[in-house]
Amino acid sequence: MNELTRLCKLLKKDFTPRIRDPSKPVRCWSEKDVLDGKMVDAYVIIFRTRGCSWALESGCTMCGYFNDSLWDKISDKDLLKQFDKTMENYSGEKFVKIFTSGSFLDDNEIKPVIRNKILREIAEKADKVSVESRPEYITDERLSAIKEIFRSKSFEIGCGLETANNFVREHAINKGFTFNEYKNAAQILKKFNFKLKTYVLIKPLFLTEEESVNDSISTVDKIKTYTDTISFNPTNVQRNTVVEYLWKRKQYRPAWLWSVVEILKTSKKLAGNIRIQCDIAGGGSIRGAHNCDKCDRKFLDAIADFSLLQDTKVFEDLDCKCRVKWLDQLNIENLSFGSLIDFSGRYQ
Ligand code: SF4
Ligand SMILES: [Zn+2]
Repeated sequence: MNELTRLCKLLKKDFTPRIRDPSKPVRCWSEKDVLDGKMVDAYVIIFRTRGCSWALESGCTMCGYFNDSLWDKISDKDLLKQFDKTMENYSGEKFVKIFTSGSFLDDNEIKPVIRNKILREIAEKADKVSVESRPEYITDERLSAIKEIFRSKSFEIGCGLETANNFVREHAINKGFTFNEYKNAAQILKKFNFKLKTYVLIKPLFLTEEESVNDSISTVDKIKTYTDTISFNPTNVQRNTVVEYLWKRKQYRPAWLWSVVEILKTSKKLAGNIRIQCDIAGGGSIRGAHNCDKCDRKFLDAIADFSLLQDTKVFEDLDCKCRVKWLDQLNIENLSFGSLIDFSGRYQ
């Protein structure tokens, strides 16, 4: 076990999960998304499970999803109760997105029989279902069972590759799988005619702003033939994570929104035929990707518009005095040995 893995583990050592009702889901709601090129309402469900198996072992440096997990076995009966509760608010949305704060295809989180029961019920009502999974659970066996259910309907798996660079994924993210494992999973999905959405992390730990922009762009170039959608997630500082540990010591700053826009514009040029989107949790706050408080809102709105419309024209009118500070960071950070403070004007 390396130092980073040890630290990921250590930070969870004293963590006590809050007592939660296992028969209630984390959350469910309706939001806008795109289905077959048209804007539709999508229904989002977050199940509460025992948690991501990788997080229980050590976990990724930026991931605080375990804060929402039970860390304890959850019965099939409770999972089905959660599902029934989510269905009470379901109003026939044709696109359903399922999250578990882990992997929906991990049998330790949700048993196959329960997973397939849930999928069967949703597939009767929706035209597209999207779930998330680490690549090791994307197997022929699991996908055959799901194909039986979905037949011609659309099924998508979101996979958090984060970066195509194995060194960064291992030593900055502690992700626990390789680029080859991702590529194998992508090929299995293709065989079943299922869709792949790949999550790419903007600004992993230890990378300068400039290195992070380059890493995201080179990742797009390497995955564009494997994936149908690329979803960028700028790191936000979540509780009890290595990212938070370093952020509190002023050794980490979330990405500038200027960088995010740069990445989106270049990615669209590089991989125009695939969908590119960006979801910014905590955007505009000191724990999330931010510029200065004068322009954050404009940038966040433009990025949300781009994710729906896929048109880089939405970025044309963006400007602010803080651009100079961002450019300074790109230029001098590589010389500062990671000691630059957040000079956006806001401090933690
Ligand atoms: S990012 Fe995904 S794989 Fe990593 S610990 Fe979180 S849920 Fe697990
Ligand atoms: Zn600004």
